[in-house]
Amino acid sequence: MREEAFNDEDVAESELVTRRGTFRAVAFRADGHEHMALVYGRTGSREDVLVRVHSECMTGDLFGAMRCECGDQLDAALDRIVAEGGGILVYLRGHEGRGIGLVAKVRTHVLQDEQGLDTLDSATTLGLPVDVRDYSPAARILKHLGVASVRLMSNNPDKVRALEADGIAVTARVPHLMRPNPHNIGYLTAKRDRLGHDLPQVDQPARSEYPTAR
Ligand SMILES: [Zn+2]
Repeated sequence: MREEAFNDEDVAESELVTRRGTFRAVAFRADGHEHMALVYGRTGSREDVLVRVHSECMTGDLFGAMRCECGDQLDAALDRIVAEGGGILVYLRGHEGRGIGLVAKVRTHVLQDEQGLDTLDSATTLGLPVDVRDYSPAARILKHLGVASVRLMSNNPDKVRALEADGIAVTARVPHLMRPNPHNIGYLTAKRDRLGHDLPQVDQPARSEYPTAR
């Protein structure tokens, strides 16, 4: 549990005009990484703030890879924040491949493609951990922004527990369900069955109520 406030030299803030609208972009240095919070809209209430804590995924977020649902979730989170008129997206670096890094993540892709291993077994076969993401920078960032409690867009109960352990109350978990595609259905099934994520849409891939790839 990291409680310390940020030093001024580790924070910088500006307006950021995006195609969705104008956000306040707040950049942080923490634990050897640089993270960003995008703050949108109403800033008066610090309770029940709509929040997404998003783990960096270069392949999904930047390149629109369809083997995971990260890019869809990033887009949908920003869309929802803007639609509701307020909220915060915390973008956490150092979380590639649930914390194993980009090179290692790509190595797991080879095992997934060539040997049919799932997202967990491909990591452990390489002697790597399944999930070593540290969410404490997100809690520090939210506290810096004055947020006391959040409605968290997530399907991951571990993320809820981690934020609460670091002093951010999660008053609601908002399901953040993306429509599966043929390239990520195995990944989503493994996350549901082996990592305990709440992903009811995996059994109803044809339903149209879920956001899908760009
Ligand atoms: Zn991803």
